[in-house]
Amino acid sequence: MTTIKLHNTMTRRKEVFAPIDPQNVRMYVCGPTVYDRAHIGNARPVVVFDTLYRLLRHVYGADHVTYVRNFTDVDDKINARAERDGVPISKITAETTQWYLDDMGALGALEPNAMPRATEYIPQMVAMIEGLIEKGHAYAAEGHVLFSVESYERYGALSGRSVDDMIAGARVEVAPYKRNPMDFVLWKPSSDDLPGWDSPWGRGRPGWHIECSAMSYELLGESFDIHGGGNDLMFPHHENEIAQSCCAHPEGGFAQVWMHNEMLQVEGKKMSKSLGNFFTVRDLLDQGVPGEVIRFVFLSTHYGKPMDWTAKKAGEAEATLRKWRMLTEGIEPSSTVPAAVVSALADDLNTAGAITELHRLANASDVAELLAGAQMLGLLTDEMGDWADAPDADLSGLAKVLADTRAKAMETKDFSEVDRIKAALIDAGVEVRMSKEGVELVPGPGFDAAKLEGVL
Ligand code: AMP
Ligand code: ZN
Repeated sequence: MTTIKLHNTMTRRKEVFAPIDPQNVRMYVCGPTVYDRAHIGNARPVVVFDTLYRLLRHVYGADHVTYVRNFTDVDDKINARAERDGVPISKITAETTQWYLDDMGALGALEPNAMPRATEYIPQMVAMIEGLIEKGHAYAAEGHVLFSVESYERYGALSGRSVDDMIAGARVEVAPYKRNPMDFVLWKPSSDDLPGWDSPWGRGRPGWHIECSAMSYELLGESFDIHGGGNDLMFPHHENEIAQSCCAHPEGGFAQVWMHNEMLQVEGKKMSKSLGNFFTVRDLLDQGVPGEVIRFVFLSTHYGKPMDWTAKKAGEAEATLRKWRMLTEGIEPSSTVPAAVVSALADDLNTAGAITELHRLANASDVAELLAGAQMLGLLTDEMGDWADAPDADLSGLAKVLADTRAKAMETKDFSEVDRIKAALIDAGVEVRMSKEGVELVPGPGFDAAKLEGVL
């Protein structure tokens, strides 16, 4: 069996992955808060952990992996959005959840085995909070329940900070009902106009962190294999999840391996609304950037490195995928995935290395292997290919005409017709490669098939 190695944020080392139960490999990834379209940064963890999910299914068997990703559908940002727009909260969360599924589906992400919504697990959260109070890890005060960070010795182990450092460095909310400024909210009171549930502490709603602890416990148990998310979640969200889960279920180990993707930037800058470089996955899709291209660009950078989204990369990815789709047209994938692709992925999800291997296979014209390897990464699949369909045939016809025209021009020494066709192709965004062997036409960034009409 393939040995998978993963970098574990908790131990800060790359370790051999040994699942607790190889018959049921379990992974939990923090999902979105549903109040708006996912921006392209939000899509990075989706593509990263989707690729890990595919690898785990490949190695342990498709029926032996359980992947859970939640929807946070109770949150103050959602309440604020509902109030701003004057629409019911349930409409916002339902609509945004569907957008998310559609947009991530367009990136080739498989749906996780379970996608629990926080609002469906309120009784489990209340039960967990009661347990934490009983064990002396939490306390109720003024309608709130707070987790006492001093009651958990290992608080801060994931992010490598001490409680004192955190207090000094963080913007902590000081509140009269907190014993320690770092104590965080498990439950808070809701006014009548806000979503709320009855609880032993009055009508209220959960704090953000408790949902992941309660839902992962319900769906995956007190110990499971992998917990993932963006590295902005490491502190406080994941640190708090660990404290809650390990104190509520000290007999379990919670997550064995912690994995964090680095952030996505745009053209070298942090993505932000004020810089005007903020866009959603849907914006890109609407501009005609195919989901497969977005996925390819994401996979070209290792998840542990910051990744830069650039228009240039998208253009290059588009040209590569067009070429690979042309090469593999009508071909069946080889029955086994090329070993070099699997071993790159098994080495801490080295997707960039796997893509390098795909280039090698393409250059060697190992097309059946190229196809199998690409499909392992969720690329060159039938579902993702709509965008690349139409223009291929036209280009092969044009390539032949250009080759013939050139052959004639060699005799007559009149290259004007060759130059004219070439200029029209370049104008339409086609890369023209002419060599002794023949003529190759590769649609490049911004390829526009319409411009080629009437060229001949
Ligand atoms: P949120 O809805 O803000 O909780 O984010 C959902 C997921 O997107 C989390 O795993 C975040 O870590 C991740 N995320 C947010 N911004 C970025 C970014 N710029 N690059 C990569 N991941 C991000
Ligand atoms: Zn979470």
